[in-house]
Amino acid sequence: MLKTKYKDYIKSHLFIEYYFKKKRLYLLEELNYYKNINQLLENFGIFKNADSIANIIYKNILNDNLEFNLNNDWIDNIKFMYNNTIIAAYDTKNSKIINNKFNPLILHINKEKLLNDENSVISIIVHELQHAYEDYNRQIKNKENLMTSLLKNNYLKITKYTDDEIKKQINYILYFSNKIEQNAFIAQLVKQINNEKYNFNSIEEIYNYIKTKSVFKNYIKVLNWIDLYINCNDLDIQNNIINYLNNIINNNFNTYNQVIKFLNNKKEKMLNKFNKIIPKIIYNNISISEFLLPSDFI
Ligand SMILES: [Zn+2]
Repeated sequence: MLKTKYKDYIKSHLFIEYYFKKKRLYLLEELNYYKNINQLLENFGIFKNADSIANIIYKNILNDNLEFNLNNDWIDNIKFMYNNTIIAAYDTKNSKIINNKFNPLILHINKEKLLNDENSVISIIVHELQHAYEDYNRQIKNKENLMTSLLKNNYLKITKYTDDEIKKQINYILYFSNKIEQNAFIAQLVKQINNEKYNFNSIEEIYNYIKTKSVFKNYIKVLNWIDLYINCNDLDIQNNIINYLNNIINNNFNTYNQVIKFLNNKKEKMLNKFNKIIPKIIYNNISISEFLLPSDFI
């Protein structure tokens, strides 16, 4: 009983910036809080021992150990390549699966950019490992590999740098709403929060803490951009977006209404996933002082 009330109270503060303003709180009611978090992560295809593998990888990066054996059930060995143009990336092209194990799994890393703080480094490694794990599962089941799938989704065009603000935002929307990226970001967020145990003294503290998590911040930003473009009345901008989308994802949008429908669909899919997972991750990790109970709670 106490737990339920606690959760109802806190959940109204989650996503408040986006959800409350947009009157979308009803969506939170659909949450099923009692489903085991690990079950849910598994449903999303997120693997269990990401933490421990990422920790081992981190230590090897620190020691400049560019190749080492891991010998677990899906990775035989790991190899690093230093790269200055990215932060970190899983090499979809050159990583090889031999006898049902990665041999090697190749990760590109920018050591200077990556090694700022341990927790964020490890969460980024978890993100890349999630890509590797998804690719592994596809390949051993003889399904389309990750690279082919990403190329079908025009990944290279979406991730290409542009100065144009609207193009940049549309690229972000396509990138963050990509199913493969979403899984990796969820794994990354789980890691970011799982590593930290807090005892908060106010709802504001909880809210501010959640807002510091880069994954969460990025998704809120992207959802706000989607709303911005759904409500856009400027004909020039509308035409720019139609042309850019037709060009970048090889679509044939004729009217802006079709674009709105497309953006709404992206938004719904993103919300559905994050609605399910974020409150669960948080309740799993945060302990809250008694005095935070709402005043009508006895
Ligand atoms: Zn990614």
